[in-house]
Amino acid sequence: MFLLPQTYWQVKQTKEKGRGVFAAKEIPAGTVIGDYLGTIIDMAQFDPADDAEHLFLMYFTDYACIYPDAASPGVHLLNHSCRPNCWIYSYRGHTLFFSLKTIEPGEELTISYLLSPDDGTCEPCTHVCKCGSRYCTGSMHLSFESYVLWQTFLKNERKKTKRAPFRYGKVLPKLPAYPETIPGNSVYAKIWSASIPEVRKKRGDAL
Ligand SMILES: [Zn+2]
Ligand SMILES: [Zn+2]
Repeated sequence: MFLLPQTYWQVKQTKEKGRGVFAAKEIPAGTVIGDYLGTIIDMAQFDPADDAEHLFLMYFTDYACIYPDAASPGVHLLNHSCRPNCWIYSYRGHTLFFSLKTIEPGEELTISYLLSPDDGTCEPCTHVCKCGSRYCTGSMHLSFESYVLWQTFLKNERKKTKRAPFRYGKVLPKLPAYPETIPGNSVYAKIWSASIPEVRKKRGDAL
């Protein structure tokens, strides 16, 4: 679900990444873009292969995930980038998307899917990245160092607010209130920049 009024965003077809979300107006840094809503599914009853094409599955608890309504517009349509302009904020158990920096009209809104490092078990890996960023690692999987930074930060963030009520098999309800802005944090830049050594290795040059 988008929390940003519809005058601010537009869903458009991209060349290589299916649909994407583009800014229709300038979006200031720290703006809450939306809440990742969908049906709460029990992971024991879900085949991850069913999500291989879209990558819509979102972590909710260690046993449950959120699966959005693919037909309706929402933040699940944001594409992955190795240097995204949006990030994830954990609030009352919900996954909010917010802008990391000012996003100019016409610019695509992007997020890191923050996938765990590829330890060889992701087979066949469908997470090739075509984000086009100068810092593209070629993969949606984080480096080990980036992943540890993110998980440590996220664990602390999750403790700050109390999880809102939910029921398995039901759509996660919208929260009664959302934060107006999300404060910046240097950890976000540290997470993506920790992948730079991998970019160097891949390209064989110095950034
Ligand atoms: Zn993979
Ligand atoms: Zn990339």
